[in-house]
Amino acid sequence: MKPFPIPVRARYSCSKCPAYCCSYPEIEVTPRDIERLGKRFELSYREAEERFTKYDSKEKVRLLRHKKDTVFATVCTFLDLEKRRCTVYESRPGVCRAYPDSKHCGYYDFLRFERAHQADPEFIALT
Ligand code: SF4
Ligand code: SF4
Repeated sequence: MKPFPIPVRARYSCSKCPAYCCSYPEIEVTPRDIERLGKRFELSYREAEERFTKYDSKEKVRLLRHKKDTVFATVCTFLDLEKRRCTVYESRPGVCRAYPDSKHCGYYDFLRFERAHQADPEFIALT
């Protein structure tokens, strides 16, 4: 018999974070992710691929495009810069769904450390 799942209490709070994870420049997308995004915007696979992703020739993968941000240098093209929320939440790529895959978020841990260190609960890390 499978053990009863133990509830994991998240040690991070996305509501207190300016979407730090969405500033990561190498968010990899799969063909399935591109297809899903295409459906969301009623675009063909090629159109979605061209509009929302770019090719990383070094790693030979496709990444989500970025745009300029006022908090971080750049963020994912799908982030709402005011609300700091994903605008394609239901259609977001697999890696976004999976992250963080534990009760800790490394970005949030860093923010929390800096906020405590600088005695500034509102501190936002600029990258
Ligand atoms: S960096 Fe962590 S805490 Fe911030 S939005 Fe992403 S998952 Fe949530
Ligand atoms: S698709 Fe959404 S969750 Fe994923 S990086 Fe972009 S804004 Fe963040």
